[in-house]
Amino acid sequence: MPKGQWRVPGTVRGKVMQVVYEPSAVQHLCESIRRGGRTIGLVPTMGFLHEGHLSLMRRARAENDVLAVSIFVNPTQFGQGEDFDSYPRDLQGDLAKLAAVGADVVFAPRAESIYPKRYRTFVEVVEIAEWLCGASRPGHFRGVATVVTKLFNMMKPHRAYFGQKDYQQTVVVRRLVADLNFDLTIVVLPTVREPDGLAMSSRNARLSPDQRRVAPILYRSLRRSEEQIKGGERNATIILEGMRAIIEAEPLAKVDYVALCNPETLEPLDSIDGSTLAAVAVRFGHTRLIDNILIAAP
Ligand code: AMP
Repeated sequence: MPKGQWRVPGTVRGKVMQVVYEPSAVQHLCESIRRGGRTIGLVPTMGFLHEGHLSLMRRARAENDVLAVSIFVNPTQFGQGEDFDSYPRDLQGDLAKLAAVGADVVFAPRAESIYPKRYRTFVEVVEIAEWLCGASRPGHFRGVATVVTKLFNMMKPHRAYFGQKDYQQTVVVRRLVADLNFDLTIVVLPTVREPDGLAMSSRNARLSPDQRRVAPILYRSLRRSEEQIKGGERNATIILEGMRAIIEAEPLAKVDYVALCNPETLEPLDSIDGSTLAAVAVRFGHTRLIDNILIAAP
C-alpha cells in the first residue's frame, strides 16, 4: 500500500483514507477534490479523538462527499506554562478511529510545516475573544483564529464542523468567517457528554481517578444556574454565587471563571432578561476543563 494511504476496514472495497502531512500535499489534494465537483466537510481537531469529535465527523460524513479531518495540536493557542507538551496525543489510535468513521482525507502536519522559522502572520478577532477563556488565556483565540484561517485556506472546505463544547471558539470562528469573507458554512453541534454529565474532552484523560469522580461539578453548576433562572431568579450575582458554591465545595477543584453572558456578544450580564450562555472553567491540578449551556429566554 502506498505510504500515507490507509485501507478502510469494513467499508466499501477499495476505499482508501489519504493521510497527508505537508500543507502543499493537502492543498493539492483538496483542490483536486473541489475541481472534481465534490463537497468537502472539514472537522478540525487536536486529536486524541473521542465521541464528541466523532459526532462531528458523522455529521460531516453525511452532509458532504468528502470527510476531511485535521489533527494538529496547535502550539500558538497554548500560553506559556500551559499544557502543550503534556496534551494527550495518539496518532495511530486516531487513524484507526478515523478509518472506522469513514474519513477520506486526514491532515496531520508537523508544527514546523505550519509555522516555519520565518512565520510572522496572525489573525486576531477583537472584543469577543477577550472575555471568558480569552481573559484567562491571553493570546489563545489569536492562535485559534490563525490556525483555523490556515486550515480553511489549505483544505478549502464547503462546510466546517465545530462543537458547542467550545462555545466561545464557535463565536470567534463565525465572526472570522463573516469578516474575512470565507466562502463556507460553519456548522455547530451539541456537546457530547459522559453518562454522569461530564463533557467529553481529550483533557479528561489527564484527570486522576479522584479528579474524574468530582469533574461532573462543572455540568452540575451549569444545571443549577438553569434551574435558578427557570425558578424566576434574574439577578446574575446571586446565580453566579450558586454556581461557584457547587464548585468550591469540592477541594480538588479551583474555579477559573463562572459566567453568565449574552450568547452573541459574550458580554457579562447583570440581570437575566433574554437567552443566556452559562459558562464555567475549572482547574483540577494542572488540568483545566470548560463547559457551557445555552439557557432559553425566561
Ligand atoms: P479539540 O480536539 O478539543 O480541539 O476539539 C475539536 C472539535 O471537537 C472542536 O470543534 C470541539 O468543540 C469539538 N468537541 C470537543 N469535545 C466535544 C464534545 N464533548 N462534544 C462535541 N464536540 C466536541
